[in-house]
Amino acid sequence: MLIGAHVSVRDGYVQSIGYAESVGCEAIQIFAKSPQQWHAKQTDPTVAAAFRERLRASSIGFVCTHTAYLINLGSEDDALWERSWRALADELSRAALLGADATVTHTGTNRSGDVERGARRIADGVHRALASAPEGVLLLENTAGAGTTFGTGPEELGAVLGMLDADWRQRLGVCLDSCHAHAAGWDLSTADGWSAFTGQLERCCGRDRIRVVHANDSKFGAGERRDRHEWVGDGSIGSEGFAAMFAEARLAGAAAIVEMSGEVPVKDETNVSRLKELRAACAARG
Ligand SMILES: [Zn+2]
Ligand SMILES: [Zn+2]
Repeated sequence: MLIGAHVSVRDGYVQSIGYAESVGCEAIQIFAKSPQQWHAKQTDPTVAAAFRERLRASSIGFVCTHTAYLINLGSEDDALWERSWRALADELSRAALLGADATVTHTGTNRSGDVERGARRIADGVHRALASAPEGVLLLENTAGAGTTFGTGPEELGAVLGMLDADWRQRLGVCLDSCHAHAAGWDLSTADGWSAFTGQLERCCGRDRIRVVHANDSKFGAGERRDRHEWVGDGSIGSEGFAAMFAEARLAGAAAIVEMSGEVPVKDETNVSRLKELRAACAARG
């Protein structure tokens, strides 16, 4: 697994790569536009070209973007739903311009509580976004299960994937957030927990769908349904949990990316190096 962090592009796209290298990243996640608002000026093609060029010359082997938090493909409000899939298409286009390998998105809410109905609405939105953005891989992220959010478990994500034709499914995958899964009740402090969760994801979503792991530890306990990220090893998943992540064969092709609060660069240096130590220990055990 390549290891990295969500990095800010506040000081510029090209500069973000220098920062990522300085804290030891082998993979990065960025926002392609402001995550808190619908509108943003177009991604400047010159800036994007400079980013791609800098990336090629860097030690970063994987880049994903994360979509804006406003996107709600499960909304029953038609105007908000249409705005959401159009925003998702825009995110995919920006990601393609930046040369990103994938785009991670949350699916949205499901007020009906009916998985089939919620999945249908979301799959329709995903389909429209993929159809209007000709390239780009989209990864659906699992959620912690708070409130009416959709996508808590493998069954829900799998229901969306299953409603799309095979042609579209080639452009779809999964982002597994360890804090969210743990909060939703899959105890990822043990190897058995990782095996159960990734096994169920594979059954519901297909093989080799997990492209990104948001390797966040959890402040709260397994099943508490509270999404609060903690530094690697300091939460209820713990170092042993992340050691088990590296030993899980179903995740061998995924990038592990941390999304932590705290001061830069310490939070990223620390969490990236903790993960690298656990990966090295896992490799040494064979
Ligand atoms: Zn996310
Ligand atoms: Zn989270």
